Amino acid sequence: MTDRYDVLYKVVLVGDLGVGKTSILQRYKFGVFEENYKATIGVDFTVQTLTIDNKTVKIWDTSGQERFKAMIPKFYRDAHAALIVFDVTNTESFEGVGKWLQDVNYFSGLRTTSLLLGNKCDLINERKVKLCDAQSFALRNDMLDVIETSAKENSNIDEAFLQLSKELLKREDYISLGSMRPSLTLDNSSPAESSWWGCC
Ligand code: GDP
Ligand code: MG
Repeated sequence: MTDRYDVLYKVVLVGDLGVGKTSILQRYKFGVFEENYKATIGVDFTVQTLTIDNKTVKIWDTSGQERFKAMIPKFYRDAHAALIVFDVTNTESFEGVGKWLQDVNYFSGLRTTSLLLGNKCDLINERKVKLCDAQSFALRNDMLDVIETSAKENSNIDEAFLQLSKELLKREDYISLGSMRPSLTLDNSSPAESSWWGCC
């Protein structure tokens, strides 16, 4: 019988600073949204653990700080999937998507499933990026799909994680932990606490 922690998938959450990565994860995991969310200074990335269909999914969220660059290969290594986020009110953040995708594909070492998220779709009057442009980018670059989200208004957040996890659960190349690790309750763990994984 498969126990809760036997099967593990690694997902990285990337995108330019301020697009709403942490807000999306907070909304999905805790059902909350903070208008004036302050970046945690001095932390390069955090890991959140979700359990989907009895499988463990670890989501690696980066603060994108300058000094994080040195850790890039470790951050991406063995990632099964990426959530690449841009802000629909910020053209530059959309133009940055290609670079994030390139890094994911280059450093992961696995065939990575990437889902594109156009966040802040509640700001209808400030929209700069058209859905059809994001769709054609996703299609051209072999991404799973593009979904417009709002962490603020809780639009399409659950749908995005559902679509990603459905795709993940099809994969056989998960990390198998066996039944020897009974204490893996690493919610909100710091990278140091998750060193059992051997990635950091
Ligand atoms: P990160 O740097 O990508 O992790 O971005 P954050 O999650 O820290 O969000 C940056 C800012 O955008 C914060 O002030 C959030 O409150 C705001 N924000 C995040 N998601 C949304 C959203 O869906 N709609 C709106 N209007 N603001 C958002
Ligand atoms: Mg953040």
